[in-house]
Amino acid sequence: MTNPNGRFGVHGGQYVPETLMNALLELEKAYEFYKKDPAFNRELKELFQEYANRPSRLYYAEKMTRDLGGAKIYLKREDLNHTGAHKINNVLGQALLAKKMGKTRLIAETGAGQHGVATATAAALMDMECVVFMGEEDTRRQALNVYRMKLLGSEVIPVTTGTATLKDAVSEAMREWTKRIDDTHYCLGSVMGPHPFPTIVRDFQAVISREAREQILEKEGRLPDAVMACVGGGSNAIGSFYHFIPDESVRLIGCEAAGRGVDTRETAATIATGRMGIFHGMKSYFCQDQYGQIAPVYSISAGLDYPGIGPEHAYLHDTGRAEYVPVTDEEAVEAFEYLSRTEGIIPAVESAHAIAHAMKIAPGMSPDQIILVTVSGRGDKDVAAIARYRGEDLHD
Ligand SMILES: *Cc1c(COP(=O)(O)O)cnc(C)c1O
Repeated sequence: MTNPNGRFGVHGGQYVPETLMNALLELEKAYEFYKKDPAFNRELKELFQEYANRPSRLYYAEKMTRDLGGAKIYLKREDLNHTGAHKINNVLGQALLAKKMGKTRLIAETGAGQHGVATATAAALMDMECVVFMGEEDTRRQALNVYRMKLLGSEVIPVTTGTATLKDAVSEAMREWTKRIDDTHYCLGSVMGPHPFPTIVRDFQAVISREAREQILEKEGRLPDAVMACVGGGSNAIGSFYHFIPDESVRLIGCEAAGRGVDTRETAATIATGRMGIFHGMKSYFCQDQYGQIAPVYSISAGLDYPGIGPEHAYLHDTGRAEYVPVTDEEAVEAFEYLSRTEGIIPAVESAHAIAHAMKIAPGMSPDQIILVTVSGRGDKDVAAIARYRGEDLHD
């Protein structure tokens, strides 16, 4: 799947200022070396097992299956990882790689704060300095995560440019990296940005499908009929798809955040509403306004409101290997509540987008078919927002 110049079909590439090229080339060279290095892979495996709690369980959701009355549903439980989501897989990989490269400082962007907290966690563990860029608007909305990052020993820098949200935090982190490459690694949070990031992040998240494929073969003796996951930048989804891509009988379904609907402006469904463009160092699909500027996006789930999608997803969409479906706030909230009361699992509202689609298609499938849904994270962080959506204010 990887091709040497970082392209996925026409997507991907390295659309960056010249000053960043050296850092990207250094990173690519180091990654090509360490990904084949047995010692590196042993250490990463140990971190995954002992620190992050891998392998994550593949859980047969029997009550949900019975209730929906169609395909058998299995949940890949990334919510059970340390820090409560799949993001730890990527940050442990990148932090270890940075350490091997002799870097002593990590920088990261964050929107809702989840990737910032994960990076701050890895930095604390590996004794590295950590600076997280976060839109000023987001630092106000996510004060708890700002405090968590500080608790973990990181500095949080509020970004005031543009709309003072995630996309501006990414731009600022890239600017900072060009200023300080010697001791600093930019720990990017999803399968996006310039090559080699989409490949590196994909490879670290591919542990999800490596485990899930083995687990389902062990439990059922066959492959699933469909694998589904929510898509923000697309890291948990590509990680869930990757080892199933050669299995042509397995449908791959990415669930995008439609917000208030794909026919409104309050949406973050990139494949459904976006157009091809170049932003944050890559060619891919982006939500854009009539002038080709990046459009403001909206979703109830802060982790999914990125205005683009990773280049490998854009390619899987172009070739038809994967399907991308929009899921609204309302459908996600219903799925959030449904999984909580049916299985006793409160999913992240991001993950609830994938659960919602499983609820939609499972009843139309036969009982000998299998759906595998990735629960990318746990939902404790979302409880207050869901209550508010339902008209209850937990804080006053
Ligand atoms: C950040 C996040 C996402 C979205 O990111 P991807 O790169 O698309 O995976 C999804 N689910 C959870 C729980 C997250 O924290």
